[in-house]
Amino acid sequence: MARELYTARLEKKICISQVAQCYHLEFVLDGMESFPFAPGQFISAVATDPNGKQQTRAYSIASASRENRFDLCINRVEGGFFSNYLADLTDLPVGGTIQIHGPHGHFILQEPITDSILLATGTGIAPMRGFAQWLFPPEDGPDAGPNAGEDRSNGKDIWLIYGTRHETDVYYQEEFEALARRKPNFHYLPTLSRALPAWTGLRGYVQEHASKIVEERAHRLGLPLPQPPVDPSIPKADLCFDIYCYICGLNFMVSAARERLAAYGWHRKQIVFERYD
Ligand SMILES: Cc1cc2nc3c(=O)[nH]c(=O)nc-3n(C[C@H](O)[C@H](O)[C@H](O)COP(=O)(O)OP(=O)(O)OC[C@H]3O[C@@H](n4cnc5c(N)ncnc54)[C@H](O)[C@@H]3O)c2cc1C
Repeated sequence: MARELYTARLEKKICISQVAQCYHLEFVLDGMESFPFAPGQFISAVATDPNGKQQTRAYSIASASRENRFDLCINRVEGGFFSNYLADLTDLPVGGTIQIHGPHGHFILQEPITDSILLATGTGIAPMRGFAQWLFPPEDGPDAGPNAGEDRSNGKDIWLIYGTRHETDVYYQEEFEALARRKPNFHYLPTLSRALPAWTGLRGYVQEHASKIVEERAHRLGLPLPQPPVDPSIPKADLCFDIYCYICGLNFMVSAARERLAAYGWHRKQIVFERYD
């Protein structure tokens, strides 16, 4: 069955890291009243390449659902077609359009909301921004929707661990820092693998910091580690846990993080992930 294609008009394009060539894009679906999606889902963008071949690529939506709009966060990939097409101001100027279908995907928050670790590298931050906007709708400004100021986190601890090499590629840093100041249960932990001496924040890989959080939390709550296996007689649909981890980025990081959590006895349903490659 042919998928329904929508035309999305680019309303804003901002380079959020010159060094990493990363762009924040805001689109509007003219003629549509709303474009509902669950935070964390992706759209598929469709365009014709210079050889006349139709190309389709997935891009996580970097915002929570708001009217007929959605945001993307795109990294140029060397030698790649679509990422450069979207990032380039000549190929896709403000006011230009792309064709999309969706929303798609199962990288979504499990409900009810529990303590959650959000692990991302690179543009894997995109769905995490969607999660953060949905959990803690902004109080005002252009991203504040009808739920402005509401708090859907149930007071649970939400740790966002964002890993990148350099300080210049910490995307949306000011936004997440402002959210952490506003919401004491939102913990923003950017970590650099190649930090300069002046960097005072965390260093190392995201999975190392996830481990620390899991261990400290278990200690604080008096929980055993590794956690005991789940009773196999419980139907899968009825399984629920008091903590989940959401992982998004390139496969090597996703696999490394999943292995760490599995070593703590985590059930595979507790680890929700999206791989970009
Ligand atoms: C569910 C999903 C969501 C995604 N969300 C995003 C997003 O929010 N933002 C974003 O920038 N990308 C995202 N991607 C990746 C995106 O779909 C494309 O793969 C990426 O933009 C490269 O496409 P391209 O046409 O430029 O490169 P291609 O022409 O497809 O590939 C060129 C070369 O780059 C390599 N490559 C492909 N993808 C990557 C990558 N992500 N990083 C490094 N090397 C790569 C290929 O192996 C190939 O050698 C997502 C992928 C998936 C599956």
